[in-house]
Amino acid sequence: MGIAQEFKDFINRGNVVDMAVGIIVGSSFVKIVDSLVSYLFNPIIGIVMGGIDLQRFSWVVQEGAVVEYGKFLNSVIDFFIVSMSVFIFVKAFNSFKKRYIPTNAPEVETMKTCPFCCSSIPIAAIRCPRCTSKID
Ligand SMILES: [Zn+2]
Repeated sequence: MGIAQEFKDFINRGNVVDMAVGIIVGSSFVKIVDSLVSYLFNPIIGIVMGGIDLQRFSWVVQEGAVVEYGKFLNSVIDFFIVSMSVFIFVKAFNSFKKRYIPTNAPEVETMKTCPFCCSSIPIAAIRCPRCTSKID
């Protein structure tokens, strides 16, 4: 099988477009959360911690070797906020889906049973097509 054919099969698998949309939306979402953290949460955390900017926390071991654990803590907080936001989003989406998109809608009855021959016949039938009995 040539690479072109393999690629065609991969695209035809169906959910490639969904996946691409997911990645694009996901990366934009990360940008939003990033700015949420750096422009809203970090200043608030700084105020709560008495005017301390987490980003500037570092430990100078020697000239040129700086352990910037403030930025690491920032990434950890980022991670928690991102996972929390995704969790809340998925939870909201699931409850929306449960409410507005019925998974197994009750089937509409289209057939009935003939009382004479017990065969399945259309619900609107007034005469059984199998035994020709009249049904009211
Ligand atoms: Zn019948």
